[in-house]
Amino acid sequence: MKVVVVRFAPSPTGVLHIGSVRTALFNWLYARHTNGKFLLRIEDTDKLRSTDENKQLIFDALKWIGIDHDGEVVIQSDRLERHKQVAYELVENGMAYFCYCSQKELVEKKEIAINSGKSYKYDRTCRDLLEKKTGIPYVIRLKSEIDGNTIVNDLVQGTVRVNNSQLDDLVLLRSDGTPTYALSVVVDDHDMGITHVIRGDDHLTNTFRQIQIYKACGWNIPNFGHIPLIYGVDGAKLSKRHGAVSIVEYKDLGYLPEALSNYLLRLGWAHGDDEIISKEQAIAWFDIKNVGKSPSRFDINKLTHLNEHYIKEKNGEDVIEYMSQFMGVQPDGAAKTRILKGLKSLKERAKTIVDLAKSSMIYVEIPSEYDEKCYKFTEGIHLKLLREFCKNMEDSSSDFYEKAKKIAENNNVKFVEMAQSLRAALTGNTISPSVFEIIDIIGIEESRKRIEKFIEIFEK
Ligand code: GLU
Ligand code: ZN
Repeated sequence: MKVVVVRFAPSPTGVLHIGSVRTALFNWLYARHTNGKFLLRIEDTDKLRSTDENKQLIFDALKWIGIDHDGEVVIQSDRLERHKQVAYELVENGMAYFCYCSQKELVEKKEIAINSGKSYKYDRTCRDLLEKKTGIPYVIRLKSEIDGNTIVNDLVQGTVRVNNSQLDDLVLLRSDGTPTYALSVVVDDHDMGITHVIRGDDHLTNTFRQIQIYKACGWNIPNFGHIPLIYGVDGAKLSKRHGAVSIVEYKDLGYLPEALSNYLLRLGWAHGDDEIISKEQAIAWFDIKNVGKSPSRFDINKLTHLNEHYIKEKNGEDVIEYMSQFMGVQPDGAAKTRILKGLKSLKERAKTIVDLAKSSMIYVEIPSEYDEKCYKFTEGIHLKLLREFCKNMEDSSSDFYEKAKKIAENNNVKFVEMAQSLRAALTGNTISPSVFEIIDIIGIEESRKRIEKFIEIFEK
């Protein structure tokens, strides 16, 4: 069996869209599943829009989500001479030709066609010119097949065909000597030994033209798999309008790479009803043939649900590592020990790493501000409850839960009033893990300090 060689070929012309990440993931899984190779090519021939920063974002994002590539990264702009050479070879072999039509002539012909209600296609004026003209700018055009059909047995879409009469003699080399995108892709895929081109179905029309180039070059045509694009819940193509679309945004919102990767995998591919799929299982099960034909809808709630799952699963040290970038501090020593102790309860309420980083601050520092929902617990009776609790803390032998219950009873208030007052004082918030767990973790001394500070601030 021939080794599978796939590639991910992003253009560094903008942020990395999660749809592209899914394309990368499918390619990567297919390579790992088949013990093949996953290559990375940066398509940076659009000099105006490609930036080094975007290129770096691609590398960082792939690393973050755990997609590693084989071999050296191929930089498309390094290979322009080779692409150009292929264009001239095709002319020599009679598979392509110099076209001397000026831009002006072409525009005029196009206008005439459109005005008479026809669709425009280059009329092949120069296709059979016998002599080479000198001193006139030219482009190189492919002698596209005129008769018959071009058929793609797409691994995802099934058999797709186009009548060759619909295809143009496409430009391979522009008049400024630069290769066109279609030519560059084909030459690179061929030279890199790509066996399977797996990409978004927005490239399907390019595929028909690219196949013409393969044929003209006499090269093996790779297998193609065009995966449906990702749509928003409203059925429109996923865009900024639907919220975050770049992978960095999800990272910044506190999503774990495992969650995003699991979710993207499930968008368009399924293994029975399995929702939670580990990377190892994905590699074992993934096959491009099982990718669905219909567009998938991005549902942030499902992603969040997976995120909650992976947050719970992740070990303490790793979680703290992720959290620290959102905390403004790297919790170490005592703070880290406390967070580790309280982590299980904190995780119960966390949808994202950002949530977790926020809620963990109770183990890092004394509240410096109080949520306005806490103000309710600054009224006289609540301060009285807190004062009594503080006094009771001197005796550390008995259970603080029992003490709190008794104080509430003695003051004729519900237990929840007591607990919420403690919560406000200890955490500066109205939602947190059990206050008795918090007292246990931060210790009696610090708990008392926090309660006293609260009383002092709000006492009139
Ligand atoms: N550079 C193209 C893109 O980012 C991908 C081309 C391909 O996969 O053939 O859409
Ligand atoms: Zn021409």
